[in-house]
Parts: sequence; C-alpha cells; structure tokens
Amino acid sequence: MPQSTPPRSLVDLHMHSLHSDGSMPVKELVARVARRGVALMALTDHDNTGGIASAAQEADRHGIDFIPGVEISSEWNGIGIHIVGLGIDIENANLQAGLDKIMEFRDWRAAEISRLLETAGIPGAEQGARELAGSRMVGRTHFARWLKDSGHCRDNGEAFQRWLGRGQVAYVPSDWIPMVEAVSWIRQAGGIAVVAHPGRYKLSADRLCTLFTEFRAAGGGAIEVSSGSQAAADREHLGKLAQQLDLAASLGSDFHGPEIGHAEIGQLAPLPDAVQPVWECLGHSIPHDKH
Ligand code: AMP
Ligand code: MN
Ligand code: MN
Ligand code: MN
Repeated sequence: MPQSTPPRSLVDLHMHSLHSDGSMPVKELVARVARRGVALMALTDHDNTGGIASAAQEADRHGIDFIPGVEISSEWNGIGIHIVGLGIDIENANLQAGLDKIMEFRDWRAAEISRLLETAGIPGAEQGARELAGSRMVGRTHFARWLKDSGHCRDNGEAFQRWLGRGQVAYVPSDWIPMVEAVSWIRQAGGIAVVAHPGRYKLSADRLCTLFTEFRAAGGGAIEVSSGSQAAADREHLGKLAQQLDLAASLGSDFHGPEIGHAEIGQLAPLPDAVQPVWECLGHSIPHDKH
C-alpha cells in the first residue's frame, strides 16, 4: 500500500504559544513554523495578545508573513464558542479592556478550581497549574496537565472526565462573554472575526447554520473550514456553508506543542477551491514563488 503523505499548507492561521496553553516559547514556535515551510502565519493565543509583538519580530526575521491574532473564549446559547480575531490592532483599548476582563475571570476561576480540588483531597493545584502555564493565562488544560504529571490520572481526557469537565467535581460554570461581543471587540480593533473549529461544538447542521447566521449578522467575517482540531471530513460541508452564507474561509492547525494532541503546524488540507480565503480579505497573499 502506498503511504499517504500528510497534507501540507503554506498558510496556518491558528496556533498557541506559552502565552496561553501552548507549550512552546514564541521564538521556538516561530522557528518551527519556518522549518515547516509555512509562508503566512497567525499567532492566536487564548484571550490575550502578550506574544504578538515578539512573534511579529521573529516572523520577520524568518521571512514569514505575519497576521496578529487572538482566540477569544465566548458563549452562545450556553455553548462555549471560540472566536478567532485576525488582523487585529493589539493597541486597541476596547479590545484590551475586554481581554483584561476575561483574564480576570480566568484568575478567579483558577482559584475556584483549586479550592474545589482541595476539597476533593487534591491540594496545591493552582500553584502547580501556574508553574506549568509560564504566563498569566491559566486554563483547564494546565490543570489537566498538572493532574496527570502529579499522578492523579493517566491523561488529560481523564482529568476532564473526573474533575474539570462540565458537571464534574472541580467544574466552575464559565462566565464567558456573549459571542456577539467577541465579534464586536475584534471589529473595533480592525480585525476579522472567525468561528474557530466549528466541527468541535457537536451542533446539528441546523444549529450550526443558526450560529453562523447570527455570527454574520453581528459582523463576523469567516469560519475555519480546515482545522487541525476538527474532523477533516467537515471541510467540504463547512466550505459550502461559508459560500452560502457569504463568509470567508480560514484554516489553522490549532497547534499547541509537539507533545500536545492536535495537528502539526501547517499539517492541513487546503481550502476547497470555491471559497474566499480570509487572508485575501486582510490584504495578504501567498508568495507565488512558494506555490
Ligand atoms: P478553558 O478555556 O480554560 O475552559 O479550557 C478549554 C480547553 O480545554 C479546550 O479548548 C480544550 O482544549 C480543553 N478541553 C475541554 N473539554 C475537554 C475534554 N472533555 N477533554 C479534553 N480536553 C478538553
Ligand atoms: Mn488551547
Ligand atoms: Mn479553541
Ligand atoms: Mn486554539
């Protein structure tokens, strides 16, 4: 049997560094992007833009075209929806005030999760998760990694099943901002709002269409049609929806680190031919000599 080569993309508009729950410092992350042959990248850490300035500088050094980004945690009809902002002005006061609010919630929630774990007989979780985090942003994946490293479970999945997932012992109901608010912050900062990994929310086709319609009405501009954190088979359906609803299409690996699940940087099936690539809306193109 011939071995199939993993698909490669010259564009990757969704990835994480140590500034959120990625495991690589910005400098090493961008060096990896260069080694993977990606020509156009965006850094999209959760709820903060702390890595953008240095990522832009490193990308420039490696001759990679760079788009400043962020992945905002939001909520729509009780479901957590991630909205990526691409091409944002990170100096925008309104965006930064909004992100600060989310980071404050994350700080409070980290203490709450830790308190609940302590009640369940597991002390020291906040300190452990913060040490792993390496920046201010502490998320549930840091707690999951700490629980695994300290021998309380075998893997991250079990950490969510036993403690951190919805309805479990250390679950703190999340008070994320409404999806439309995330879209509005991104727009005010001059960026394009993108629904991240739509295939991951387990929505029926109808509900997904309602989400996209409301997202578009709020000023949203694109959806991730090809994503390392959703099934490759979703690509065609999402491409058609993007066209129908006049939304542009994005693609990104959602890379978090070599040892953390998800796809490798640039390991992505290309966008279907008929869609409008989101980077063109932002005035970027893929250099012809790299085709
Ligand atoms: P947070 O934004 O801190 O609430 O963390 C959300 C992240 O946790 C998601 O982006 C996933 O990476 C991860 N996550 C959520 N639910 C699960 C689960 N059941 N199993 C493994 N990882 C999960
Ligand atoms: Mn993450
Ligand atoms: Mn996400
Ligand atoms: Mn992500």
